[in-house]
Amino acid sequence: MSKSHSLLFSEIKIGSLTLPNRIIMGSMHTGLDHTDDPYNRLAAFYEERAKGGVGLIVTGGVAPNEQGLISPGATILNKPEQVDSYRIITEPVHAAGSKIIMQILHAGRYAKQADLVAPSAIRSPINKFEPREISHDEILQTIEDFANCAELSQKAGFDGVELLGSEGYFLNEFTAERTNQRNDKWGGSFENRTRLPLEIVRAIRRKLGSDFFIQYRMSVLELVEGGWNIEEAQRFATELESAGVDLINTGIGWHEASIPTIAMDVPRAAFSWATGKIKEAVNIPVAAANRINTVEVAEEILQRGDADMLYMARPFLADSDFVNKAKEGHSNEINSCIACNQSCLDNLFNNKTVSCLVNPRACHETVYPPLPATDKPQKIAVIGAGAAGLAFSIEASKQGHNITLFESGSTIGGQLLHAHKVPGKEEFDELLRYFQVMLDKYTVNLQLNCRVDAGQLEAGNFDAIILASGIKPRELDIPGIKNSKVLSYEQVFSAPEKVGQRVIIIGAGGIGFDMAGFLTHSKSNDTPVQTFNKNWGIDPTGLGEGGLASNPAKTEKPSRDVTLLQRKAGRFGKTLGKTTGWIHQIELQKRGVQMIGDLNYLKIDDAGLHIEQDGKKQLLPADNIIICAGQESQDELTESLSNITQQVYRIGGVKEARELDAAQAIRDGIQLAYSLGLKQ
Ligand code: NAP
Ligand code: SF4
Repeated sequence: MSKSHSLLFSEIKIGSLTLPNRIIMGSMHTGLDHTDDPYNRLAAFYEERAKGGVGLIVTGGVAPNEQGLISPGATILNKPEQVDSYRIITEPVHAAGSKIIMQILHAGRYAKQADLVAPSAIRSPINKFEPREISHDEILQTIEDFANCAELSQKAGFDGVELLGSEGYFLNEFTAERTNQRNDKWGGSFENRTRLPLEIVRAIRRKLGSDFFIQYRMSVLELVEGGWNIEEAQRFATELESAGVDLINTGIGWHEASIPTIAMDVPRAAFSWATGKIKEAVNIPVAAANRINTVEVAEEILQRGDADMLYMARPFLADSDFVNKAKEGHSNEINSCIACNQSCLDNLFNNKTVSCLVNPRACHETVYPPLPATDKPQKIAVIGAGAAGLAFSIEASKQGHNITLFESGSTIGGQLLHAHKVPGKEEFDELLRYFQVMLDKYTVNLQLNCRVDAGQLEAGNFDAIILASGIKPRELDIPGIKNSKVLSYEQVFSAPEKVGQRVIIIGAGGIGFDMAGFLTHSKSNDTPVQTFNKNWGIDPTGLGEGGLASNPAKTEKPSRDVTLLQRKAGRFGKTLGKTTGWIHQIELQKRGVQMIGDLNYLKIDDAGLHIEQDGKKQLLPADNIIICAGQESQDELTESLSNITQQVYRIGGVKEARELDAAQAIRDGIQLAYSLGLKQ
């Protein structure tokens, strides 16, 4: 263990549990409940994290009754006959030496099902289903259902429960005036609004005694109008403590808030100050959550005294061995969560099983089991050190193959080298760091500044050749495209100072949006958290209603006028990530970026770009026109390799440039390495 991580790896006793370190693996929806073999797949997922050294795991949400289901078919625990299924999960986790508690989630008005209930019949802006007002008798039954669910969880071997009372779910809907407009004993005053969660805690205590571990995830900063402020949150925390809660976990922001809380644009540990305010109010341990993705950030939060525990969820998708690597002083080997949401939350909201951009094995442990070292090592050439080539090379050399990785550039990364330059996307540096450390660890023979040809590959006596040379920007044939005003996105990311004041961006996909953000970003002397709070209207004292600033600062006008164009009609940003696209759209709107669609490009000349829209021709004056119009495969070798005897494989952009992103590229690399490994 590194000395600098002394608090992180100090033991703590919380209620009846003694934990070896301060890291809790937070609750995550995985989508595995909707697969053919949910409990075995969940067991494999949690077991791998338990073996990775995490002291306490919190499961994804389990409903205490039918009304509380987040969607039809989601996990529920309300009958004794379900207990054995959950034992499939608890037993391997215990065998690996970890503790596991079950999160009880009543979805309230966020439920995606027909019979949904809420304190008042007010529909959520993010759910098309209308809730009905829950009756007094149903509330009493719900308290029973929570206690029954906790008791069944104990029978299934769980070490306790977490009650989800944040992010705008059912219990949070009761505590907030925004959603609770009842005038019986369950609504109105602070005492009445907080009655239900406190009664639930007391009911569980009565049923299961003082040794049963209860963790409560409360809403600290609501970030919506009609939410409570930090003083009310502190008051509620003291009530939870009196009711018998062992640990308070701090939730930030409702799902319907228009402020990002976990995306890459949110600075690391951006909300731990709010957790610190709860810690000031109570004597029981308090956990900080949201954007804690490295050991160093985790330790800093503890050292600052903002929290006693760290609640980290997505970092355990990115790396199941997070804790062991940190404890053994190898934190540079951790595959960090970069907060992209691309393969976890975006998958979930697209009804797919969750995974991870940087670790496609996440939630697919039974699909990609750990492979034994090969007894037939192959000599393999990989062409291109972008995401696909890197992922393949590392996975294949882990298996014992002898890999030479050729890269024509002076550094590894390929397209990732652009991504990490975009303000708010600096986390991509973590991925580049991880790849480099792994190349060294598994002794991949990396040949930089080396553009190989077919002859060299043939002469190298390789058993297999992997083409991973990626993509190149699509070239357009608009008249005047060779005008000196026209730049490719690659040219701009390398030399932004060459870009003038009036800019037109052709193409409004992921890169067009990134480019508009890159060119309109203004530097600030504030800390990243101060800038974030100002930009998104968060009151840094927490005293405003819902933690919102009463007079949000206006965004300064950027130094460039940027116009983003697409030929198709309709909404901009449709292809951006489901859970992050809205953030980029709001940011660009605030910076005054114009968006014009439903048009044709006519020509480019010294005056700018000529377009046709609604049958009318017009000139859009510009100092520079930047092409962000997608990509084509970059493949200089396939033809010349057509006669060689070795097996040639294609991965990443060489295989398919359309809709290629980093997640697909890495998945491609890992899948090919697995298919070679499984053939042994
Ligand atoms: P993209 O998402 O395919 O967008 C290409 C854009 O260029 C579209 O707006 C398209 O709109 C336009 N276009 C296509 N062909 C054109 C042509 N012949 N002439 C003029 N315009 C043309 O490609 P990208 O922006 O390069 O992104 C590449 C990949 O990286 C994508 O998979 C993307 O998801 C991923 N990425 C994602 C993010 C993110 O935020 N998650 C960020 C960066 C990159 P019209 O056809 O309507 O003109
Ligand atoms: Fe983190 Fe992105 Fe992986 Fe999700 S997909 S766990 S946000 S790195």
